[in-house]
Amino acid sequence: MSRLKRYSKSAKAYARACQYLVGGVNSPVRAFDAVGHRPLFIHRAKGSKIYDIDGNKYIDYVGSWGPMILGHGNHKVLKAIKTAADNGTSFGAPTLAETELARRIINAFSSIEKVRLLNSGTEAAMTAVRLGRAFTGRDLIIKMSGCYHGHCDSMLAAAGSGLATYSIAGSAGVPDEFAKLTVVVPYNDIAALEDAFNLYKRKIAAVIVEPVAANMGVVPPAKGYLDAIRNLCSQNSSVLIFDEVITGFRLAPGGAQQLFGMQADLTCLGKIAGGGLPAAALGGRAEIMDMLAPIGPVYQAGTLSGNPVAVAAANTTLSILTEGNSYERLDASAAILEKGFTEAAEAANVALTINRVSSIMSCFFLDKPVKNFTDVQSADSNRFKRFFAEMLKHNIYLAPSPYEAIFLSLAHTKEDIEETIDAAYKSMCTLTGHNG
Ligand SMILES: *Cc1c(COP(=O)(O)O)cnc(C)c1O
Repeated sequence: MSRLKRYSKSAKAYARACQYLVGGVNSPVRAFDAVGHRPLFIHRAKGSKIYDIDGNKYIDYVGSWGPMILGHGNHKVLKAIKTAADNGTSFGAPTLAETELARRIINAFSSIEKVRLLNSGTEAAMTAVRLGRAFTGRDLIIKMSGCYHGHCDSMLAAAGSGLATYSIAGSAGVPDEFAKLTVVVPYNDIAALEDAFNLYKRKIAAVIVEPVAANMGVVPPAKGYLDAIRNLCSQNSSVLIFDEVITGFRLAPGGAQQLFGMQADLTCLGKIAGGGLPAAALGGRAEIMDMLAPIGPVYQAGTLSGNPVAVAAANTTLSILTEGNSYERLDASAAILEKGFTEAAEAANVALTINRVSSIMSCFFLDKPVKNFTDVQSADSNRFKRFFAEMLKHNIYLAPSPYEAIFLSLAHTKEDIEETIDAAYKSMCTLTGHNG
């Protein structure tokens, strides 16, 4: 079927959406700009499958950008949502289920003693930064280039031309005065981090990092990198913030901290921790967390924070996920997918580097290791575009950007994985003109 016909309802829906919604979408990456395609409008999703309004069915590797680790429409989660909604969708007053969710998070993360529930990962990072500043009485924050921490002003900073220069705003509308308070260093670069600490001495309030970077594609920490960050923060009395919005409950119940045996001071959670509804959390050492209002001087609030419907979805998701052998199963499926893609690339004669940590992985079209954002940017983005479009033709729904991960869920079957590997081989063959 022609591309025009196959996606005709989505194309019409997009044109109409563009009349009323800015850019037709409510979050930029959904616009498919990076892959030169138009967005698909989704009708429904179940298990590992997602269905567009033209009636096409895809194996979904986006999983709402991470939250849907159980797959779509898990019946226990849906039941919990319905039961909670029947009792009222929002009270603006405390409920038992919020304490239950906080307890689950504290049980999973040995570094977390107290929790604040919020609505989004952006809020978690924003609040963590504010707490880091209040706790230390300092202003500067260090972040790593290519790591994403949501869209609050101080996290939208980009590296200047060198370490000694201050950062520049990473978005219009962010005053350079704000950006100057964020020092940006390359990921996986211990020397650059040491230089920053030496240069700014005791002015660094906090370091915020994705312990496994997953917003420039998946880039794992080099051996010793996280330990070095931990040590520099401790030596300089700076707060270490792990942004585990993707990795929390994804790599292990206790996230990257459990996987690598690390302890952050503050941990940002979202995505899976919200069970597919808008909920997120910030947790950490009691001495820092207790600086939040109402008992401390740091203000933070939310009309819908700890929303009963979202919290019910979160509690049920985390309870299903952390029982049995979920993480072994996720890792096993992802390992098969990785091996299949590697073999497909070899057979199709395509240069491909795959980074995988547990159930998140990324494919970079280049022939060298990918350790930081500069490496990521040197991959062949045209190849990714064509690969994306070919995979879509074969009914595989990948994230529409080379900077995103492939997210596996517990609902992906052996057959799904085999079908995906087959599609990857055929798609890669079209990239090189190889006779697949
Ligand atoms: C998605 C994400 C955020 C932002 O979360 P939202 O809920 O989209 O605001 C922050 N940090 C990381 C690491 C993320 O992946």
